[in-house]
Amino acid sequence: MSTDTPGSQSSLHRANLERVLRAVRMAGSLTQAEIARGTGLSAATVSNIVRELKESGTVVVADTSSGGRRARSVSLSGDAGIVVGVDFGHTHLRVAVGNLAHRVLAEESEPLDVDVSAQQGFDLAERMVARLLEQAGFPSDKVIGVGLGVPGPIDQETGALGSTAILPGWTGVMPGQELAQRLGMPVHVDNDANLGALGELVWGAGRGLGELAYIKVASGVGAGLVINGQIYRGPGGTAGEIGHITLDEAGPVCRCGNRGCLETFVGSRYLLNLLNANHPGELTLGKVVQLAQQGDLGCRRVIADAGRQIGMGVATLCNLLNPRRVILGGDLAEAGELVLSPIRDSVARYAIPSAARQLSVVPGTLGGRAEVLGALALVMSEMGETGGL
Ligand SMILES: [Zn+2]
Repeated sequence: MSTDTPGSQSSLHRANLERVLRAVRMAGSLTQAEIARGTGLSAATVSNIVRELKESGTVVVADTSSGGRRARSVSLSGDAGIVVGVDFGHTHLRVAVGNLAHRVLAEESEPLDVDVSAQQGFDLAERMVARLLEQAGFPSDKVIGVGLGVPGPIDQETGALGSTAILPGWTGVMPGQELAQRLGMPVHVDNDANLGALGELVWGAGRGLGELAYIKVASGVGAGLVINGQIYRGPGGTAGEIGHITLDEAGPVCRCGNRGCLETFVGSRYLLNLLNANHPGELTLGKVVQLAQQGDLGCRRVIADAGRQIGMGVATLCNLLNPRRVILGGDLAEAGELVLSPIRDSVARYAIPSAARQLSVVPGTLGGRAEVLGALALVMSEMGETGGL
């Protein structure tokens, strides 16, 4: 039991130490001046804490330059611990192994049938984690935690997967508990859009930003919201369900039970249905994007219309949260300007001008890796709160 009383010198010191560690953990590497700016601590306090962490082998300090001046960059020691990311998608399972210095040591993706049972899915995850740890050359007892991404909302109290999950037959499964039991490691679980947001925040198009939204458009449509540098989940874990904003109350029936949700106009099943008559054979969203880029007018039109409708959702989001950047991810993001430009047009038309002016709409830079890298970042962001490094 700790003998510190809140507010005492040593508890203050520990709190400052944790602030420095958290800043370095989430950024990968920072100069001492950047740590001071990010944490609000004085340069002298940061310098003392960094020296202490260096002596204990927790961080490594290297010479670098910042704005033409010599500076010292601080990052976590590569052998301070290993993190694992597991991302269940609609058609794939992707696993990555990384260290706390933000280096990805091994990464693989395998196809996953949408109708696979939860048990078969976890069997595959267990095998892949074991194989990748071996590839990376680390035993399982070096693993600090596992981040797990699933395509649906997680009930924050029970840990159960909600009924609007993309994988049918997984509703009610407790994915975090199941994987923790199988691997014998602590598991942190979140939905794919939140992890995509974390991935882009820490490794990609959102680096250094405090406010952003990541919108994933694939089979389903969801958003991960970052406020003050942290994922905002809401008490039920359903924050960011932008796909279920009503666009037309007499529209098609959605899998959520409502009618005319954004997702019923831009989800991959709807888009593919629009094109089936003119494009016989097996059509995928990836193929539609490819055809559009080759000049197919029907595919271009379908993508542009989807962009306009996504833009209506983004405009609403923009009015409510005023994010600095909206990052588009998922299969449709591969269309680039064909989808981004109509999104921007809709934002200009429907959002409050002062909110729209500060907003940039950009594609993610991590592609299909955003979620699994976000799973690694999830472990890093939750470490301090669970008493780890
Ligand atoms: Zn819906």
